[in-house]
Amino acid sequence: MTKRQRAVGSAIEWIAQGPGAARVIGQPKINVIAFGAHPDDCDIRAGGVAAKYAALGHRVRFVAVTNGDAGHQTAGGGALAARRRAEAQEAGRRIGIDYVVLDNHDGKLLPTLAGREQIIRQMRQWTADLVLAPRPNDYHPDHRYTGVLVQDAAYMVTVPNIVPDTPALRKNPVFMYFEDDFQKPAPFAPDVAVSIDDVFDRKIDMLDAHVSQFYEWLPWHDGKLDRVPADAGERKRWLREQLTLEMTPAVRAALAKRYGAARAAAIHHAEAFETCEYGSRPSEADLRRLFPFFP
Ligand SMILES: [Zn+2]
Repeated sequence: MTKRQRAVGSAIEWIAQGPGAARVIGQPKINVIAFGAHPDDCDIRAGGVAAKYAALGHRVRFVAVTNGDAGHQTAGGGALAARRRAEAQEAGRRIGIDYVVLDNHDGKLLPTLAGREQIIRQMRQWTADLVLAPRPNDYHPDHRYTGVLVQDAAYMVTVPNIVPDTPALRKNPVFMYFEDDFQKPAPFAPDVAVSIDDVFDRKIDMLDAHVSQFYEWLPWHDGKLDRVPADAGERKRWLREQLTLEMTPAVRAALAKRYGAARAAAIHHAEAFETCEYGSRPSEADLRRLFPFFP
């Protein structure tokens, strides 16, 4: 089925050909790439905005820097890596984005030169305008080193003599961090917060694809495997409850900055990002262009 819509008050006309197939016409596409340590990390921190970009016809790639081959209580190795790759690809399919899983071992990631070069290639191949990644002060070494690897690539991605097999970016992307709750050396300070109320069900649908994680490994690790419902619909509702988190005052304030206080107060779910000091330093106009979701 085909439908046409013209966005009131903007130059964006989009044509949808079924769910998730909207295309932006008359404005440049934004190329967003997000790096998470494991297949499901980007989904948790940016699955909502990814669904929103995809619905507008922008390009999103999630990259899991490890293959997740340690993340289960009974499975492991190549079989688990294959299962998690399939889950990640299904998750990406459900919201209409690209999902790459790099073949590095889970739980063993280090900030090596080889890892940095993998990250540089990914950013270049995607012609990234916006790069999302964890801050390098996370509890999990894989998360932490994913943050370091992205930071280490932030300048080198523009240097042609580095990784000469893949043409360097002529314009340095904007780098932003995912939200986290670590307080040292500094708490997460959101520069942008986006309401994802309109796509929260789609985000849950995406996360639901990671069966080995949300219904097996993570509940087992937390000692609540017996609370996971057996029925597919029931367990999705359960997952929704697990992932409905309290919003911090800082994120609420960041929402108010762009949606106004009254609208921000009514938002239930948001994803927030902090500008990294590396890469291009975005102006307010740049942020509005890179996050085309605000009123
Ligand atoms: Zn992780």
